[in-house]
Amino acid sequence: MEAPTTAGVSACIVGGGPAGLMLGLLLAKRGVDVLVLEGHEDFEREFRGEVLQPSTSHLLDELGLLEYVLAQPHSLLEVGKIRLNGREVGQFEFKRIAPLYPYAIWMPQPIFLEALRRKAAAFPSFKCWMGARATGLVEEGGKVVGVSGLRHGRESFEVRADVVVAADGRYSALTRLGGFEVEYEHHDFDVIWFTIEQPPGWTSTFYVSLGDVRGLMLPKYPHHIQAGLVLPTGEWKGWRDEGVAKVAERVRRFDPIFNEFAASLRDFKPFFPLEGIIRLMRSWSRDGMLLIGDAGHTMSPAGAIGVNVAIATAAVAAQVLYPHFGHGPIGREVLQEVQRLREADVRTLHRFQLGAQRVLLGQGSRNPIVKRLVQTAIPLIFRSPLLPLVQRRLFFGAPLPPLDPAFSFREPAGAAAGR
Ligand SMILES: Cc1cc2nc3c(=O)[nH]c(=O)nc-3n(C[C@H](O)[C@H](O)[C@H](O)COP(=O)(O)OP(=O)(O)OC[C@H]3O[C@@H](n4cnc5c(N)ncnc54)[C@H](O)[C@@H]3O)c2cc1C
Repeated sequence: MEAPTTAGVSACIVGGGPAGLMLGLLLAKRGVDVLVLEGHEDFEREFRGEVLQPSTSHLLDELGLLEYVLAQPHSLLEVGKIRLNGREVGQFEFKRIAPLYPYAIWMPQPIFLEALRRKAAAFPSFKCWMGARATGLVEEGGKVVGVSGLRHGRESFEVRADVVVAADGRYSALTRLGGFEVEYEHHDFDVIWFTIEQPPGWTSTFYVSLGDVRGLMLPKYPHHIQAGLVLPTGEWKGWRDEGVAKVAERVRRFDPIFNEFAASLRDFKPFFPLEGIIRLMRSWSRDGMLLIGDAGHTMSPAGAIGVNVAIATAAVAAQVLYPHFGHGPIGREVLQEVQRLREADVRTLHRFQLGAQRVLLGQGSRNPIVKRLVQTAIPLIFRSPLLPLVQRRLFFGAPLPPLDPAFSFREPAGAAAGR
């Protein structure tokens, strides 16, 4: 058997999703030797969090990256509408939530991730191995000192690092390998995604549809609608057992714009079920190892904030980690600062997500009293003066600790002019 490829770096980041690549980019910007291991051979992926909320625009702006990101193919979302049984009962406008960033950016993940990798690749200390799946932790004296795995399914590798960052998403293998404990987990609903072409005249709006058939509709770049049926956990199986015709009938009731799609349904292939999981790991670190993004704090699709929360933790992690390289495994007492700075925000957002899904699921309750109550409450909620505050908290986020300007890609005033 061939000897494994070995490498030694300062930071080994497992997972080239939004969290892993953002952390890799920021560390590389400061000259840190960083290796991102991405299990897939490319960034092609469908039905992931693709919405960059005003919180991320703000962070990208602070990092001098907003213009660069906006130069990539995307669409902008300025308004969201709430419908109850086909009737509009409320709406929100991003300009009221975040006047400086009055939009959400809809950017397919492959485009966003490729843009981050391209930017990072300009730094000689950045490396990204595609098709490299981490399958084991290397431990010495109770500390994590590296990872092992397989590249392209056949070449074994071992990477040693001062810190191994698990950014490997909601189904993180590394958190299991590292013996991390779950503090809480909720899985109350699933979203069953599908896409159609936008019909002519469809306004680029984010719809939350409450009522008999509950779901979401978002414009998907470049000219599609991504729609999701929201079902209590396990109910999709029941729907499938009832057959395609019954599902097609419900899709029609969801909104008439899906009539053609419903008529074309022959099987369940066009549907992509996503588990609406909320999870918080009790501790996000141990000696030599840190969890970020969905691996540490899985967000449900409610509010489309998953990518944003992951990126925020990555930025904070970059700042916490940067001063500590070059002295062997970074201790837990340093790494737990990331959790200290980010956990309160994550817990608040989880509470909002749980509240939102209770409204969504209560609406579909078989209990007529609960159903009636929710139907009466929804229009009131959308007229409440508190709602913009909640929306601002959800989409604009809590302030992050100020980032060292050395992480910024913005050229100092005069530098560009001088060239
Ligand atoms: C199928 C799916 C659909 C989603 N849909 C939505 C949505 O509609 N709206 C929303 O807001 N959020 C959605 N999310 C959540 C959102 O995409 C995440 O919150 C966000 O991407 C988290 O970023 P991350 O970098 O932490 O993890 P991820 O984006 O999950 O990235 C993790 C990366 O790690 C890689 N990886 C995993 N294991 C290994 C390993 N052992 N070795 C090397 N690499 C590995 C994966 O290939 C992946 O690229 C969805 C998530 C999933 C999984």
